Amino acid sequence: MSGGAGFIGSHLCETLLGAGHQVICVDNLLTGRRRNIESFASRPGFTFVQHDIIEGLPADWPVDAVFNLASPASPVGYLAHPIETARVNAEGTYHLLCLATRHSARFLQASTSEVYGEPEVHPQPETYWGNVNPHGIRSCYDEGKRYAESITMDFHRLHGLDARLIRIFNTYGPRSQADDGRVVPNFICRALLGEALPIYGDGTQTRSFCYVDDLVQGILKAQFEEDTVGQVFNLGNPGEFTLLELAEMVLELTGSKSKIEFFPPREDDPTRRRPDITRARTQLGWTPRVPLEEGLKSTIAWFRTELKV
Ligand code: NAD
Ligand code: UDP
Repeated sequence: MSGGAGFIGSHLCETLLGAGHQVICVDNLLTGRRRNIESFASRPGFTFVQHDIIEGLPADWPVDAVFNLASPASPVGYLAHPIETARVNAEGTYHLLCLATRHSARFLQASTSEVYGEPEVHPQPETYWGNVNPHGIRSCYDEGKRYAESITMDFHRLHGLDARLIRIFNTYGPRSQADDGRVVPNFICRALLGEALPIYGDGTQTRSFCYVDDLVQGILKAQFEEDTVGQVFNLGNPGEFTLLELAEMVLELTGSKSKIEFFPPREDDPTRRRPDITRARTQLGWTPRVPLEEGLKSTIAWFRTELKV
């Protein structure tokens, strides 16, 4: 797995290990952390390799499944590393596709709801092609992921690679990073520390938030269920909330007296986002189970321990 020391990747590594798989986690720690994997790093079957996949792979491992999760994923992360983001999704993905092809392995490409850009279709089904600014500040990520989708499907079409794409919608949970700017960890940490919650824009923009345990189950199904080859699946929780609703929920669940502060909207920030998950429901038998309030409670409890508050 690439990106296994990141937020989602670390949960996926842990679940795969628990199911008896051997896991090689390749990560350059650009936005990930050793801390994310330390609770299971010494378990038999787990290998961590600190390496930048843009440079190729350090060994020709005889893998039977590849999960490509390596990429900065938060706007703060990819705006700080735009060229690395474009390159890991292009060159990094290419190196992993070659590895998977050489070993006739299954391949799963982690794509994103960002490929829909500022969506004109709502909710977004997989058949929607998106509305993306091709050279704006978010394009390193949006177009990087669109390129990764494209080359993955060409390896499938030309080399018969057993590949599938997943488009992940906003995911949250334990091990998300307080300082990577994503809205759920940022709101929770600020609320716990008594600091103001920043809202970019008027707070009426929407997102649909998926708890990480639900997402991991969806990823495993997309990779291992029959008849997923050559397909793309939206994975997200269709519950849609405005940012104001999220802020109020976080304040209530933390019991915080923090205020909400408004700032100008971010450039190219999508105004709404909600997955149509009909395909994942019907073909994978996957439905997210954890309601936002419940997932926030677990995430808040985890951050209380992290921040010691
Ligand atoms: P994350 O930043 O926590 O994890 C990404 C990992 O990739 C990090 O550990 C980072 O160090 C590693 N990485 C980056 N560049 C690398 C390189 N060149 N070589 C090796 N490793 C590299 O982010 P995440 O939230 O866990 O996201 C994981 C994947 O899921 C990403 O591909 C992201 O685009 C996708 N995704 C996430 C979300 C979400 O809401 N979290 C939404 C859509 C898509
Ligand atoms: N956002 C916000 N305050 C924050 C962080 C984010 O208002 O502290 C907004 C951001 O402008 C966007 C939404 O919350 O409209 C989700 O942002 P995030 O960075 O979590 O992910 P995105 O969905 O943009 O990739």
